[in-house]
Amino acid sequence: MNARNAGQVLILNIRRNSLDDGPGIRTTVFFKGCLLNCLWCHNPESKKTKPELSYDSAVCVGCGTCAWGCPESAISENNPYFVDRGKCSLCFKCADACPSRALKRMGTPMTVAEVAESALKDAAFYRSSGGGVTLSGGEPTTYMEFCSELMSELRGAGVDTLVETCGLFDFDRFSLLILPYASRIFIDIKLMDSARHKEMCGADNRVILSNARRLIEASAQGGLEILPRIPLIPGVTDTDENLAAAAAFLKDCGATRVSLLSYNPTWTDKMRMLGEETKFAASSWTSAEKMESCRAFFKDFEIVR
Ligand code: SF4
Ligand code: SF4
Repeated sequence: MNARNAGQVLILNIRRNSLDDGPGIRTTVFFKGCLLNCLWCHNPESKKTKPELSYDSAVCVGCGTCAWGCPESAISENNPYFVDRGKCSLCFKCADACPSRALKRMGTPMTVAEVAESALKDAAFYRSSGGGVTLSGGEPTTYMEFCSELMSELRGAGVDTLVETCGLFDFDRFSLLILPYASRIFIDIKLMDSARHKEMCGADNRVILSNARRLIEASAQGGLEILPRIPLIPGVTDTDENLAAAAAFLKDCGATRVSLLSYNPTWTDKMRMLGEETKFAASSWTSAEKMESCRAFFKDFEIVR
């Protein structure tokens, strides 16, 4: 593959010193764009493959600078969402001018070289902690060539690479572009009922389950860590029926490890900041009791926190 031919893609954030996205100290690269549309997505600002404007009323000081400079007259304190998204042309003049960073641009075009340069700044920390770089999102495989080139560069520098994926990708392209450069893959398993998966996530689960099975079977050959993860969404994925079916599926695939992800309700605040309605309601974090009852379905697995 030619070096650095993937152009620019939209990066939402590059978070350094992350302790939550794989082993050791990591830098997590959040890509913007996903093929799924899960109603509870905890990073809703990462779903669309285009820049967005976010407004946080909690840090707005009401100075009015944004409204004066908006060329579309799209900003009004009388608007419950502050910004009229129908008028907004995404020029981001308001975000540039806002003194409190209440208005922010979501999504910045970056090249492989720019992301790699940023990620490699902490290479010494990765080495000392057993960490590395995690590609997350959104869905990193939305930008398969970019991820391939980025991971090739990182692995060339001796850096551990981890891909967090929703599992909806073309396996042949993934095998060619991602697997040769990935140290680890975390793949999310959500709903075992395909029709329900389509209803809640925007696509059925057939490709995802097929890809999960193929990855788990490939990991049995050694050299690649695959970790299935199940986000515990209240009343959706954390039901007895779904967890029992997921455990049976993973066992049949030969998986020995699984991670159960607590539900994080703060995504609804992010939806409001993006000016979007929520179509799913659950406002409590996963309780310790609920987590224990969910873990009981996976007694035959090592449960990775
Ligand atoms: S991004 Fe531009 S058009 Fe949209 S609200 Fe801000 S200043 Fe107005
Ligand atoms: S410029 Fe920023 S702080 Fe001032 S009113 Fe607009 S959003 Fe609020």
